[in-house]
Amino acid sequence: MRDVARARHRIRGLAVETPLVSARTLGETAGLKLWLKAENLQRTGSFKLRGAVNRLAVLARSGAPLRGVITASSGNHGQALAYAARAFGYPAVVVVPEDAAPPKVAAARTFGAEVVHCGRTSAERFAKAYDLAAERGLEFVPPYDDPDIIAGQGTIGLEILEACPEVEAVLVPLGGGGLLAGIATAIKERAPRVRLVGVEPEGSNAHQQSRAAGRPVTLPRTETVADGLRKLAPGRLTFPIIQEKVDEIVTVCDEEILQAMARLALTAKLVVEPSGATSVAAALNGRGVRPGERVVCVLSGGNVDPAVLARALETAP
Ligand SMILES: *Cc1c(COP(=O)(O)O)cnc(C)c1O
Repeated sequence: MRDVARARHRIRGLAVETPLVSARTLGETAGLKLWLKAENLQRTGSFKLRGAVNRLAVLARSGAPLRGVITASSGNHGQALAYAARAFGYPAVVVVPEDAAPPKVAAARTFGAEVVHCGRTSAERFAKAYDLAAERGLEFVPPYDDPDIIAGQGTIGLEILEACPEVEAVLVPLGGGGLLAGIATAIKERAPRVRLVGVEPEGSNAHQQSRAAGRPVTLPRTETVADGLRKLAPGRLTFPIIQEKVDEIVTVCDEEILQAMARLALTAKLVVEPSGATSVAAALNGRGVRPGERVVCVLSGGNVDPAVLARALETAP
């Protein structure tokens, strides 16, 4: 918890404090009082900047010489790390699959990162990133399984409590679990009565299955439109935190995610990517919420492929 408070101090100036938007119309249709934590409006388009900046600030202060940073994510974490590294004046390398979407590669390059293409599986990418890290003396920065990353994401929890002290439940998109573990740590310390709910796609519910089994479960494959929430297993650090502090894990299907994106765009006027819309998809379908409750949904990012946004808008009535 002290780590989250320190992280908040460290990221000030580089990550913005995003608005908590009241979503009266959307809330009414679901029988809730609803607010949206708009991390889709965060710099680089997702909350991942918070963790990346916090990790870099810790590394920069540790005194150990740092030649640069590297990661194996082509998505929001890669962009966030590239942005943060440039701000701190360190070189960044992002390892992406050979078939990476050109806009994501372009974004990482825009923020000054060197992009290395390798293989098609995440195992190949991680291996390449570890090799390059050793060869060039770079620090590997993981997307979620790291205490400084988790603390950085937790700063969202502090901002939610300050902007909406009357909140009763917080719904959080759940991938590897850094976002949920951080927010749950921050909120349960100061307001233990607030319910914390993780939202996974049906086709990528490793946390839900692991919770039911009482130990980490590895899925054979994942299948979901929410590309930021694909993972085969929960994080080693995030799983026990989520076991201890999170009240419930629910799932949503792709159709519900796309419909939630359309409602967010047309009613709340917010462009949100599939991963970021899962929290609202759950609330609108009555999952993880109780009637009349005061609910905050975290919109974790807004970096959406235009073709997917078009598909989502076609679901609108
Ligand atoms: C990474 C990501 C998530 C999931 O965060 P975890 O810390 O891996 O659980 C959710 N939404 C978006 C937009 C993301 O980029």
